[in-house]
Amino acid sequence: TQKAVRERERLAIIGQMAAGMAHEVKNPLTAVRGFTQLLKEKCPDNPKLVSYAEIILEEIDRANSVITEFLQLARPKQPALKRQSLNSLVEEIAAIVSSQAFLKNIKVEYECVDNLPLCMLDRDQIKQVLLNMCQNAIEAMPGGGILVMKTGFLPAQKEVFIDINDTGCGIPREQIEKIGVPFFTTKADGTGLGLSISYSIIGAHKGRVEVDSKEGKGTKFRIYLPCC
Ligand code: ADP
Ligand code: MG
Repeated sequence: TQKAVRERERLAIIGQMAAGMAHEVKNPLTAVRGFTQLLKEKCPDNPKLVSYAEIILEEIDRANSVITEFLQLARPKQPALKRQSLNSLVEEIAAIVSSQAFLKNIKVEYECVDNLPLCMLDRDQIKQVLLNMCQNAIEAMPGGGILVMKTGFLPAQKEVFIDINDTGCGIPREQIEKIGVPFFTTKADGTGLGLSISYSIIGAHKGRVEVDSKEGKGTKFRIYLPCC
């Protein structure tokens, strides 16, 4: 309808303005970061000033990562789709996250089904989704646990799926519907953007995400993707 079109245009304009502004904020932040670094190096014998400078640097880095992630959400890239296997991607992600997980007493496992049909994927984008979800899984298991990734095939639906399972804190039922809403986070240092970016990437691949979670037991994210 006319009204829906106008609303979409309005949101697009707000998105563009916000993205433009975020971009403009990054430049002064870069300058502030550079000079703070200089200040820190100029006063090595004043531990108090050094520690203040370090706090400024950390906070600038945080602001920068919020802006970078926000820009990704406001100006999503069209996926560059290529026919490829999810299985090899899962192996790659398992290798990337296992060293960090090991330090936190978390075991990383994966089970890939044989003869998984190929999908049309933007490898970098799906990699980012899986890394976001594995990062969340690791953060949900501060006392250690198991992270399992699994692939599977649903012939009737012409879909493949990938599960990211953890044995972590779980998501309280009243929070389930907020999962993936931009800026929703329960972490002191979270941005609340990782999942909204992931959902938008999966949407651009014509896929979908399901969440199944039990408080105190663990969480499963299942990503469905159409296969070739
Ligand atoms: P962030 O990690 O910065 O908080 P995300 O968008 O990645 O932002 O996640 C949003 C919120 O969803 C998290 O703060 C957390 O409350 C919840 N969440 C996501 N994944 C998990 C998980 N595997 N286990 C428990 N909670 C999760
Ligand atoms: Mg996250």
